[in-house]
Amino acid sequence: MVLRHSAKTPYFSLNKAMNCPQCHSDALKVIDSRNAETEPAIRRRRECESCGYRFTTYERIGVPDLRVIKKDGRREAYDRSKLTRGIWRAVEKRPVADADIEGLVTQVEHDLRNTGESEISSDRIGEIVMQHLKELDDIAYIRFASVYRSFEDLGELQREVAKTMKSSTTTKT
Ligand SMILES: [Zn+2]
Repeated sequence: MVLRHSAKTPYFSLNKAMNCPQCHSDALKVIDSRNAETEPAIRRRRECESCGYRFTTYERIGVPDLRVIKKDGRREAYDRSKLTRGIWRAVEKRPVADADIEGLVTQVEHDLRNTGESEISSDRIGEIVMQHLKELDDIAYIRFASVYRSFEDLGELQREVAKTMKSSTTTKT
């Protein structure tokens, strides 16, 4: 389930100043708010208090304020585009649609929110990505795993490949 970015359904990031599209007043009130469980966004009906104009906004939920603990112990702010780039590298030349990657990142963010943690290790994020990537594309999964899990030796990588092939019920080519 992926919400595509379009002119009709603009995303607004959280905490971003918002103005009436009609008169540019910032005196807006929310008249209805909905968070469909399957959608990575909050839909809000808003009304301008100056001119009465009503419009709908979609706010990406994302993972606000999450900090990532890197392997060397340093912390950095969670970055959706960085995660997306890592997944892009793994799926390179694989038959995976852009929308699938966006969907995967959204699922990962959903899981990250569900941990309830404010800090999470990059290893843990890698594991979550792998879980979802496994369902999407076997080759991409192995590529991602070989980078993030840094297999001890070829034997370990081989065992993981064998396991993946065994558990794979659908073959995508
Ligand atoms: Zn207005």
